[in-house]
Order: sequence, then C-alpha cells, then structure tokens
Amino acid sequence: MKQLRHSVIRAGLEALYFTGAHHLLRPIFAGIGGIFMLHQVRPGRGGAFQPNRHLEVTPGFLRATLLHLRTQDIDVIPMDEVYRRLVERDFSRRFACFTFDDGYRDNRDFALPVLREFDAPFTVYVTSDFAEGTGRLWWIALEAVIARAHSIEVEIGGAATRFDADTPPAKQAAFDRLHDWLRGLPGEQDLAREIGALCARHGVDQAAICRDLCLSWDELKSLADDPLIAIGAHSITHCNLARQAEPAARHEMVAGRERIEAAMQRPVVHLAYPYGDKGAAGAREFALARTAGYRTAVTTRPGMIFPENANHPTALPRVSLNGNYQDARILPVLTSGAATAMWNGFRRVDAA
Ligand SMILES: [Zn+2]
Repeated sequence: MKQLRHSVIRAGLEALYFTGAHHLLRPIFAGIGGIFMLHQVRPGRGGAFQPNRHLEVTPGFLRATLLHLRTQDIDVIPMDEVYRRLVERDFSRRFACFTFDDGYRDNRDFALPVLREFDAPFTVYVTSDFAEGTGRLWWIALEAVIARAHSIEVEIGGAATRFDADTPPAKQAAFDRLHDWLRGLPGEQDLAREIGALCARHGVDQAAICRDLCLSWDELKSLADDPLIAIGAHSITHCNLARQAEPAARHEMVAGRERIEAAMQRPVVHLAYPYGDKGAAGAREFALARTAGYRTAVTTRPGMIFPENANHPTALPRVSLNGNYQDARILPVLTSGAATAMWNGFRRVDAA
C-alpha cells in the first residue's frame, strides 16, 4: 500500500510539473511563503530496506532547494521573522523558512555547511529526552529490529502474529504493518512496552540509537551560539500530544520548553508538534501552545503560508522535503503551492 501511495504522489508531482499546471496554480496557492520541514540530512545510503527514507534528504538535494529559492528571489528567513511578517502583515516579499525536527546530529554535520553557503537561517526543534540521550526514536528502533531479524513475532489484539522478514520487500511489509500497529496503540506506555520488548528480543539498544543520532545538550549549546540557528521545542518525550490528558499535554509543552531554556540560557518561543498531523495536533493543542507562550507552532499539515495564517500562528502548515521525492524538478511544483494544495484538498488555510 505504501509503495502504491508513493507512486501516486510521484505521479501527481510529475503531472503538475509536466502539464505546467503549477504555473497556473501558483498565483492562487503559492501564498506569501512556505515553511520547509526536514528531519535528517545525510548522504544517501545503499541498501534496499530504508523504511524511514522519507525522513531524510541528501545535502545535495538541500543545496538544490536553496539554489531554486535563490533563482526565484525568495527570502530565506528564520521563524522569528516569519512571526514578525505575519504580525505586521508585511507580505511584500515571498519567503521560505527551514525547520528541522527532533534534533539530529547530522543537521549540524551535513545541513549546516550547506545552509551556511547560502547564509540561510534555520530552526532545530529539540525533543528534550533526545538531547538527554534517554529518548525513544521508536520508528528507527523498529527499522533496526526488522533489519536484523529473519522473522518477527508479536501479539496483536491477543493473537500471536508472525511476520516474515527475510527479504527487503518482506521487511518493508512488516515495517508498514508494525509501524501502524505501534502508532495505533492507545497509550505511550503501550508503545514503550511493545517496542521495548521487540528491541530486547532482537538485541537493539534504543538508548544507543538516541545517543548515536541526536545532538546532546552540550552540542546543542554550541550550535545555538551560531547566529544562523534557532532552537525550538518539540516536547519532552515526543508523544502524541492530542492523546494526552490536558495536564500532561501542557506539561510536555511547558516543561519541555523550560528544559531547553535552562540548557541553552536563551528564550525558546517556537514549537513543532510531535507527529504534527491532525491526529496529533488540533484545536486544543493550538490553544495550549498559545497559553504556554509560544509565538509560533508548526504542524505537519501540508500547506503554504497565507495572510490568513496570521490569525493562527500556533497552527502553521509546512511543506515536507521528502526523501522519497528528491528530484529538483519538483521544487517549482512545491514552491508554487500546487503540491500542498493537491494534498490538503485545495484549501488555503486549515487551522481548526
Ligand atoms: Zn519529531
């Protein structure tokens, strides 16, 4: 199913490109700018089983994106400036803003050098448990489990279920199924228990994954001294906020912010909701982010920024730079707003 979805999305992007429809849609859907969402940035890896590839782009694709923005005469600005332009309704020039979720070390090692070439500012949204080295990047742990397993057994809904994991296609199918199952579990404790059991059974060390991939507090502190970089918050544990009771969701937003501020010795006023889709961030979270004192908060809902978004600064949509579609030809389609419009049902603003 996932492969089919990729094909449909790619076909849609290519159709928009080859028909030139993005030129027609640009005046309607390009808005005043866009906020790009990225996760990891690193050189491409070999290997057929890369189920999290949508969450990483190469330094080369990042450079192609920045070059495209330069030819379009689009300003690359930090989140503080996005907020200022929204509040002051300064829409005279189009903008792009770069944001990186979770706090990966490769943001420093591979993204920063490219962004520096273009003097492009960016925001890194930090999950404080990841910086602490105690967080659970369960989707990467699941990839590690399946990569080394020949078969996997779990109890789903009271029934023992066995997944073949001998070949790359079988591994991908097992990943899709187990990923959906884990994300659908009722509570964070259930997710922690199940992924913990899988890791224990297959010899995967979750804490080591976290320390291996994520910037530590010390590393973040020196990174934050760079004038190009702003540090934002991405909760304490990377939980689905919408599924938490209100006090717990508020705690994730408030205490997560305080932990980063204490470590960085500077204010944190920008938030990214973990997962960030409609099932993880809705009206209650948008209000909580406001009362927690965040100036802006970004979702993973697809969309460009329009003047109307000034009324909803804690419900901002983004444009994903997706590792499965690293083709420079799609960049004009993305900045035209045609792709995000296609994905969000041709709505301009969706902040409810
Ligand atoms: Zn995240």
